[in-house]
Amino acid sequence: MTEGSKEQYDYDALLNRARDNLPDEIADHDRFKVPEIDSFVEGNTTILRNFSDVASTINREPEKLLKYLLRELGTAGELESGRAVFKGKIGSRKIGEKVNNFVEKYVLCSECGRPDTRLVKEDRITILRCDACGGHRPVTGKKRKVRTVESEEIKEGETYDLLIQDIGKEGDGMAKKGKYTIYVPGTAKGERIKVRINHVTGTLAFGTMVGKGSN
Ligand SMILES: [Zn+2]
Repeated sequence: MTEGSKEQYDYDALLNRARDNLPDEIADHDRFKVPEIDSFVEGNTTILRNFSDVASTINREPEKLLKYLLRELGTAGELESGRAVFKGKIGSRKIGEKVNNFVEKYVLCSECGRPDTRLVKEDRITILRCDACGGHRPVTGKKRKVRTVESEEIKEGETYDLLIQDIGKEGDGMAKKGKYTIYVPGTAKGERIKVRINHVTGTLAFGTMVGKGSN
């Protein structure tokens, strides 16, 4: 065996081992696909031909999926031997979007992304439980919260109303705003004050009290 081929062999072996060690969920998630929407317009109705295929792939009750689609598409409709019949002319792309939204909301685990989940009721809240990773989340009308407060930036030279929540080791008052901790000398815990920011570094800021807070 030449040195080159030995290296090659080692490399292949490493690669194989790396593949074997890949968590199953990554591979499985890649494989999970909602069937392509197969629909057509017939007169004043739209027929979703592979409705039951879609419902069984995502492992949810057909009635639940239908109800969701009707609400989201804003139309009436019914199941007819494995097909869904919607009133009105609806593009398959639109149907596909709604199905994807359904899957995102009611099927995919937000921890590991796998579809091996169940809907269970706990204290009148519907929870999506993942059999693959044990993850769970409530199913709510809204998407996961977007963090808005933390993206709020504070700027040098600006003045903010702040509450001194604590006193730091050096005796300076400490206030919080979003991701920032602001140090303000000469203040007391519980004081609500106006602070002018002198300096910002990372998530730390240093300010001067310029007056009483507005409340
Ligand atoms: Zn999971």
